[in-house]
Amino acid sequence: MHLTLFQLAEFRHRVRSDLNQILGYAELLSIDGQAEMPPSCIAFLNDLQNATRRILHTSQWLFNGDVSDEATLRASALESMGGILRDMEHCIGALLNELPPAHLSDLQRIQSAFIGLRSSFDQPVIESLHVSRGIARTIDVDEPYSATVPTDLRIQGRLLVVDDSEANRQLLDRQLMEFGLDVEMVETGEAALEAMERQQFDCVLLDMMLPGMDGPTVLKAIRGQPDWIGVPVVMLSALDELSEAARCIDFGATDYIIRPTERSFLRAKLHSAIRQKYLYEDCQKLGRVLEVKNEELKRFVMVASHDLQAPLRTIETNLRAIQNSFPESEGETSSVLAADCLSRCHRMSSIVQDLLVYARLGQVEPFIEVIELDWVLSEAMANLQEAIESTNAQIVAGSLPCVEADFKQMLYLFQNLIGNAIKYAGMASPQILIESEERADSWLLAIRDNGIGIEEDQWQRIFEPFHRLHGDSIPGSGLGLAIAQRAVEQAGGKIWVNSVRGAGSTFLFTLPKL
Ligand code: ADP
Repeated sequence: MHLTLFQLAEFRHRVRSDLNQILGYAELLSIDGQAEMPPSCIAFLNDLQNATRRILHTSQWLFNGDVSDEATLRASALESMGGILRDMEHCIGALLNELPPAHLSDLQRIQSAFIGLRSSFDQPVIESLHVSRGIARTIDVDEPYSATVPTDLRIQGRLLVVDDSEANRQLLDRQLMEFGLDVEMVETGEAALEAMERQQFDCVLLDMMLPGMDGPTVLKAIRGQPDWIGVPVVMLSALDELSEAARCIDFGATDYIIRPTERSFLRAKLHSAIRQKYLYEDCQKLGRVLEVKNEELKRFVMVASHDLQAPLRTIETNLRAIQNSFPESEGETSSVLAADCLSRCHRMSSIVQDLLVYARLGQVEPFIEVIELDWVLSEAMANLQEAIESTNAQIVAGSLPCVEADFKQMLYLFQNLIGNAIKYAGMASPQILIESEERADSWLLAIRDNGIGIEEDQWQRIFEPFHRLHGDSIPGSGLGLAIAQRAVEQAGGKIWVNSVRGAGSTFLFTLPKL
């Protein structure tokens, strides 16, 4: 009979589920019973696990080949696996005779999975197994299992398992109980989403193949819900679903486990996923604390700089009055001292003003409108008129574009960059060139000077608040470039500098096109 893709997938699923059961329970038995089992049992359990892995390997080759009709599939399966199946049968038979009665319920699970595996390949179930099963019939499969969990295996957390196969769920339950996890099991994707609505989980173990909503659809639903962003989802996948499982990582799965899997592997993957959740939560908490602190700090700077302005203005006025009140002859020294105080007052006042501008740029929403940068430039030059005239600065500007930005912020930007080009001109008289260039989706603007230049290792650092390179001999608050950067970034652009020490600097920034 010709097999459809679906039938082939069903067949694969059945074989894999049985192999998963055999491998899982054999592994559990060999770890749990180590202390009280005769060494021969441990050896048979190891042989059984190895044989199961060999079948797994062989069946992979078989499923990936071009076998498309049932008879050929079964025949080639038996041809390549007959020997291994006989080995497994031998191990199970021997274990039935030698295993201490306390562990027979697990062996019965292995035995029925083996019978299932044999019947998948259409082979009459071996007589000896039928006979041995007499023992198994007296065993209560659902007898409660109490695990003594070694402390080094324990994982703390609440896990949601989504798997439609009862046998898989039972095996997982046993394995997960060993890890000390608090587990809830559901059969469908819909039930998983309902469970997540009801309570919080530290991890979801999600089967790829589910009736109704399949694994990837459930994953997308989980990732679409903002409250569950931090919940790790580990996909349970078969080898032939690997590419789909890898795609699930793109949709936000944390990891995937290929079934059948070793217990230590399952534990390590779950442990790592749950640790990621805790780390995510720690980061969220820290982020929230930082946000609050940041807001407090911004408010503090704003209030402090605002409140400092008024007393500073009074001090300045009073100092001027004191300066004027001295008769010329006797007040020489006092008048010099008052002038010194006044100039320091000016400096402090300009730092406070810059601080206020900087704080406002981070707090107040920009007022975005279409503005002509030519106009911004002429305003900036008017504000800098004194400095331009006193240094005989030459400013040449090409035609500048219109952009969408906050006028005041653009004014700070031009004023600070041109002001710096004048301040840091060195011995030469300042020559400043302002140009713009149209790009695909932005304007590139450049303000070039012939000043003292900046060493390359400082190109980024000069944009940090209060980072000054040239000492107190040149006045400044150390905030001009930080303000310029905030202004450009609020308008959706970037700013940087190119410079050669002693041969001038070019400050470049982009602004989005209208
Ligand atoms: P300041 O108030 O000190 O000018 P800025 O933030 O505007 O603060 O600039 C930071 C530092 O970067 C300045 O102290 C100066 O050392 C350097 N700098 C800024 N612009 C220029 C420039 N055009 N040429 C050379 N150095 C500059």
